[in-house]
Amino acid sequence: MLANFIDLFVSKAGPGALAFLADKMPRYVLEWNAEDAFRQTVRYAYKYSKFYKRRFDELNIDVRKIRRPSDLKDFYTMPLDIIEHAEDFICSAPNMVFESSGTTGRNKRVYASMEELDRIGKFNAASMLYGGIAKTDRLVNAFDFNIWIPGMITQKTLEQSGMFGMAAGKVDPMEVYSRIPIYKFNIVMGEPTWLIKLTELAEKHGSYPLKFIIGGAERMPDAARSWMSKVWQGAQIRMVYASVESTGTIAYEAFNECEGYHIDETNFIVEIVDAGEDGYGEVVFTTLSRRTMPLIRYKNRDISKITDVKCNCGLPYKRLAKIRGRADELVVASGGNLYPLMFENIFKDIDGIASDWQIIFRLRGIREVMEINLEVREGVLGDVIKKKVFANIKSRYPDLWKNMEIAIFETDFVFHVPGTLRSDRKLLRLIDKRS
Ligand SMILES: [Zn+2]
Repeated sequence: MLANFIDLFVSKAGPGALAFLADKMPRYVLEWNAEDAFRQTVRYAYKYSKFYKRRFDELNIDVRKIRRPSDLKDFYTMPLDIIEHAEDFICSAPNMVFESSGTTGRNKRVYASMEELDRIGKFNAASMLYGGIAKTDRLVNAFDFNIWIPGMITQKTLEQSGMFGMAAGKVDPMEVYSRIPIYKFNIVMGEPTWLIKLTELAEKHGSYPLKFIIGGAERMPDAARSWMSKVWQGAQIRMVYASVESTGTIAYEAFNECEGYHIDETNFIVEIVDAGEDGYGEVVFTTLSRRTMPLIRYKNRDISKITDVKCNCGLPYKRLAKIRGRADELVVASGGNLYPLMFENIFKDIDGIASDWQIIFRLRGIREVMEINLEVREGVLGDVIKKKVFANIKSRYPDLWKNMEIAIFETDFVFHVPGTLRSDRKLLRLIDKRS
């Protein structure tokens, strides 16, 4: 019942009202709403989605008894389910379809209604207003409009926010750079790798005072954040966490000091499953407000952890830690668990390393080889980079260093020209070629 009331309120309220209320919701209201919405979503999905009807029947799950995610025990919706049966998830007539990137011919397909996209835009606009963005700001949306989702979602956010803006799409960064002074844009949104290219242009040709740079859809290297902020004369760098499957933003950085992403607990229940001792495990989410294609306990393949320690910014929402890597990118090699964030920490403060890198594990005979592929800027000496990489491993990951010192595996370095490692939109950071 509470969920219906909150839903009605959200449909009438503007993003300003949602932003005003963002830090005033007591946790018990959030939790009560989430549980109520979860119950309704499960019953609704069972009634209208062929996929959930079939799976719950197969597993003898009585939806009337399901109150919270843990009641579903080890039931999860897997990425392969969406790849193979996307249309079986549809509960009501969609207006739009989005696809995940990839060239395998087996893309994930996600359907949504216009009403749902407007609602997502409203919540995004609310989180931006809460985080210090004003209606008088001017935003350029440089996210891709091509097949997948962030361009359209950012467009919806712009419509709801009341800001002035431009739907540039993922064009040559020079096109956006040259328009910043013309239209007095002070917020730029795009993918981190694209934002890095834009910032390189500003570093070379002169910068403008930006208020915010907002990235999403891939990880932002730590080193890039401080450099970007400096180049753009103190711009604040914010990241959002979302996926094609989630359609809406699952979690966002409200302020620089937040240390993690606040989970949108009105629209999602996020769980961490198979967590290790450090609390890190796989991110699983349930959509609470989608009615075209609801997803129940969807395994999003990212590794993170949740903290419920109250944030200084005042938001009552739990926080998701910075994504450590992909569940399918975790490599057990060289005497330990290796994940992308670890290498990001090793490379982050080394001058001369450009944004992209990739680690490939190979076998040379029976010897394990860790091949470190790095894009380096022109004129940088390989030996200098090598020394710094080893020094950082020694001080930051002593266990890994120990294995290197006793030569459990060999380390090869391969240097590349900036911009040549990536051939697809997403660059796989860790690759295991030992088998
Ligand atoms: Zn916060």
